[in-house]
Amino acid sequence: MQNEIEILQVEKKIRTRVKKQMEKNQKEYYLNEQMQAIQKELGSQDEFKNEIAELEERIRRKKMSKEAVERLKKELKKLKMMSPMSAEATVVRNYIDVVLALPWFDRTEDKLDVEEAERILDEDHYGLEKPKQRIIEYLAVQKLVKKIRGPILCLVGPPGVGKTSLAKSVARATGRKFVRMSLGGVRDEAEIRGHRRTYIGAMPGKIIHGIRKSGSSNPVFLLDEIDKMSMDFRGDPSAAMLEVLDPEQNFAFVDHFLDLDYDLSEVLFLCTANSLHSIPIPLRDRMEIIELTGYTDEDKLKIAKQYLIPKQTEQNGLEGVDIQFGDQAVKELIHHYTKEAGVRSLERETAAVLRKIAREHVKAPTKGQSFKVDGKYVQKLLGPRKYRFNRAEETDAIGMVNGLAYTTFGGDLLPVETTITSGKGRVTLTGQLGDVIKESAHAAVTYVRARSLVLGLDPDFHEFVDFHIHFPEGAVPKDGPSAGVTIATCLVSALLRAPVRKDVAMTGEINLRGKVLPIGGLKEKVLAAYRAEITTVICPRENEKDLHDIPKNVLKAIEFKFADTIDDVLRWAIAPLAEDHPNAALRAFLGGTAPTEADDWRSSRQWVRDRDLRERADRARENEPVH
Ligand code: ADP
Repeated sequence: MQNEIEILQVEKKIRTRVKKQMEKNQKEYYLNEQMQAIQKELGSQDEFKNEIAELEERIRRKKMSKEAVERLKKELKKLKMMSPMSAEATVVRNYIDVVLALPWFDRTEDKLDVEEAERILDEDHYGLEKPKQRIIEYLAVQKLVKKIRGPILCLVGPPGVGKTSLAKSVARATGRKFVRMSLGGVRDEAEIRGHRRTYIGAMPGKIIHGIRKSGSSNPVFLLDEIDKMSMDFRGDPSAAMLEVLDPEQNFAFVDHFLDLDYDLSEVLFLCTANSLHSIPIPLRDRMEIIELTGYTDEDKLKIAKQYLIPKQTEQNGLEGVDIQFGDQAVKELIHHYTKEAGVRSLERETAAVLRKIAREHVKAPTKGQSFKVDGKYVQKLLGPRKYRFNRAEETDAIGMVNGLAYTTFGGDLLPVETTITSGKGRVTLTGQLGDVIKESAHAAVTYVRARSLVLGLDPDFHEFVDFHIHFPEGAVPKDGPSAGVTIATCLVSALLRAPVRKDVAMTGEINLRGKVLPIGGLKEKVLAAYRAEITTVICPRENEKDLHDIPKNVLKAIEFKFADTIDDVLRWAIAPLAEDHPNAALRAFLGGTAPTEADDWRSSRQWVRDRDLRERADRARENEPVH
């Protein structure tokens, strides 16, 4: 019993001691924590004070507009009164940081040596004479007036023709910093101008952001893809762009976030776009358009040999390796592995070839190893050919005409087929066609109907037949008015069963009176015809002036015919083949004896009526079918 009692007493003693110890520990822990918190508070106050002092110093030293200095001082005063960790303080701090980080008066000195600029532009780019000249003129004027005035330059052309890299060269030539901002998909004004500071997470817009990134107040600012900007209920970004680009207004550009005037008048803005008609019209008014058309195969070959291959060889670490890239190999790449107006895919494919060579070289590096790249070797490295361009048909065909189209790859041959079946005058159009091309098909049908008598057709032919007009390559969407003459020729050929020359390609819009109206993209179209080995191109008379853009060798290889009316087109495309056509009216028409003035309806009616009566009598005698 005694023993048990002693043990219990010891246990009790221990427990009380442990308890005491624990209480003491807890107290200590609590006090410690409190002390630390107090110290921290004291420290952060210190830190906060330091921060404010530092900001004050930065504001004092930074060169800014008067307005900005005043605003920042005010903001700093506000910040001093705030609790340093509060959300508002973070917002104010962020604002002050943004304003301080802007290059208000930090500018780079302009190099305005026009000859040097010319040299740099030539060094970076092959060809592109006109755009280069225009840029040089621009720089020369700048040198004289010392201030950027006048319209903004806008480089318009298909992808990969060197718009961005030209702009970069301008920056290099003038010694300015370069910033690029893509406007593709911008649909909100706030993206350009920023959000007001009342929004949580508000930021300055893209313009101020770009300027800040460039670190100078006079960079070359590239507004990429200005035609891809769209508009929705949140406002129209093009209105904000107007202010940015207008030299009368942009010395005081207001970003919603900054809420201060920022001077953009020293910035050299350049724009790029893929197509003109999708640039909002008020913006287009403020710009001077410089068009960059696609390259011919010869251009591409030269660009590849002089620029792309050396560049890619270096980038793929193959500088010391003996690689002989033959012309044949480059041509193989141009014709069968790329389909484009520019040279971007060509550059990519060149890189692909060089990468594969790099792999082989690294696997088994032997001394003095050399690679000879020719067409076959390209096929071996890159696999089967990917593209073919449309070629002309082998034989002259009925109801089959070569049109010419302007696509994002430059130009291409656009064949049109028509088949006629008995029916009730329905017109079916297939081949992924847009509204404009459909309308021009209907106009062609109407025109052919109106001219039926002159062409030797039964005036009521449409009551017995259905037309099906088809554009092969159904997967490629097609639109635009320039297939008018092609469709009309195709219809006439199918109706009269007169074949069309296979070596002729044509382009032109028609109106209901049969006039041929001018079209765009003649150079690309002609280059496509050249590639397809077409020998005669029929185009609208008014496009005659565009021929000076076309390379000499192409002009030599192709005969051009300029049409005023669809009758001219028909005569050139059908004539030589149909001289012995059984239809006498057609023969007369093609021979040029029938009245051709579409507006001289009365006399042509009379002539046609007489002739028609004669014809019908003949036909009845010979039992000849109408078509
Ligand atoms: P874009 O902006 O018109 O879509 P890029 O300027 O990005 O095209 O050009 C794509 C590539 O092609 C760049 O690497 C560029 O250097 C090259 N390139 C385009 N045109 C030429 C040219 N005339 N001479 C040399 N390189 C060119």
